[in-house]
Amino acid sequence: MSRVDIVVLGAGLAGLSAARDLARAGADVVVLEARDRPGGRVEQTRLADGRLVQLGGEVVGPTHEAYIGLVKELGLTLEPSFPSLPGEDTVVLSSGRVTGARSWMSDADRASYDAAEEAFRRLARSVDPGDPWSHPDADRLDRLSVGQWLREQGATPGAVRARELAMLALAAESVERTSLLSDLRKEAAAGAHGFYDYDVWECLRVAEGSATVALRMAEELGHRMRYGTPVTRVNVSRSGSRVTTATGERFDCSAVVCALPVGPLRRVAIEGVASERLASLARQRHALAAKVCFVYGSSWWETQGQNGSSYFETGMLGGTWPQQEGILSALVPPERLAAFLATSPALVEQDVLAEMTLAMGERAARPQATYFRRWALDPWTEGYITGWRPGDVMAVGPLHGTHDPPFYVCGSDQWVCGYMEGAVRTGRGAAREVLSNG
Ligand SMILES: Cc1cc2nc3c(=O)[nH]c(=O)nc-3n(C[C@H](O)[C@H](O)[C@H](O)COP(=O)(O)OP(=O)(O)OC[C@H]3O[C@@H](n4cnc5c(N)ncnc54)[C@H](O)[C@@H]3O)c2cc1C
Repeated sequence: MSRVDIVVLGAGLAGLSAARDLARAGADVVVLEARDRPGGRVEQTRLADGRLVQLGGEVVGPTHEAYIGLVKELGLTLEPSFPSLPGEDTVVLSSGRVTGARSWMSDADRASYDAAEEAFRRLARSVDPGDPWSHPDADRLDRLSVGQWLREQGATPGAVRARELAMLALAAESVERTSLLSDLRKEAAAGAHGFYDYDVWECLRVAEGSATVALRMAEELGHRMRYGTPVTRVNVSRSGSRVTTATGERFDCSAVVCALPVGPLRRVAIEGVASERLASLARQRHALAAKVCFVYGSSWWETQGQNGSSYFETGMLGGTWPQQEGILSALVPPERLAAFLATSPALVEQDVLAEMTLAMGERAARPQATYFRRWALDPWTEGYITGWRPGDVMAVGPLHGTHDPPFYVCGSDQWVCGYMEGAVRTGRGAAREVLSNG
């Protein structure tokens, strides 16, 4: 049995940023991590030629203040990411490939899309991202799917189809399975500019590699990190809490900071925390996805006028974007994951390369390497990002992201919509709460 001030569960960006702040404030803290590496949903691998391939979280936007602040503190550098690259988007429709994100739409579709976006922007401005439950129409907005709402606005089938293609590329759930309130809340958190915009959410990246943020923090935390240590039980009490691991090791402490994704968290037995708090946590769900990275020698698609961003109406991939010189990232969205997981590794590579060939031409069929990261099946993630189906925001309720001291909760799942920002923001927030409660 060990005795520490604070036990942090999970060494993703949330747990690491919480533990780092606690350690810097002088607390005796230990981080218990199931995997044998830090970072959770940020992970990278180095190629023989020195390039890093990001297998998880990759890009951020200028409103991601907590993440940007941390990156600066760690002495890392932000640089522009893919939206600033030259060239056109590619759209692979069921009828064939077109160049230009909106080139396949009729004038009426484009006008309808713009009108719906304006209505969405106005509505998003009425939602408080920190408290969407207080919106006078919260219940109705949550019960509506984005697709239903678009049709209520008179959006043309082409305009709805364009939003669906965008959701597939993000590996979010279909417009028909996404709560309107959750989408409004998400965009409200980024300034309510309109529908999801890559310039707002994804135009920056850490030059030294996204996963380097986690590696740096783990390095700083040094002996406080315990890898290969899955937590199975947490007993919480104001007079002293206890965390038990899969091997039966026990850590007695005065506070517990839980930074686990909502899936694996359900397998941890938790006692001594208010049942409403636990029910709210258990009610959250993930959108399940996988990531595929295609490694080429150079960004040859640029010579074809393509920017490396593509949208797929058919097949298994939802979309691609250029990660860095010669490397394309792709996501397999929840809607298509069953087909992906049902296919043998050899065949799935053949299949996704055929899809890439449709989008980019023959050269796409010959990558130097292809990486598959099946996050949905990973027992320590069981997902990708939080998914909010119609009704979920109200069902999870205002306890979302709140603490029940001495049990503190953080993680990207505890912010409005996931993201590395959510992890760092809630991690540092949890550390502040622990410290302010003495
Ligand atoms: C493919 C993919 C692409 C993404 N792209 C982006 C992007 O471009 N931009 C962006 O901002 N975000 C992106 N995200 C989301 C972002 O990476 C995550 O939201 C964020 O990294 C999550 O951090 P976290 O600390 O909350 O959770 P996690 O990183 O999931 O960390 C939780 C930790 O808890 C550990 N754990 C689980 N169970 C136990 C247990 N029982 N005991 C001990 N430890 C346990 C896990 O091993 C893990 O290390 C992406 C995610 C994925 C998967």
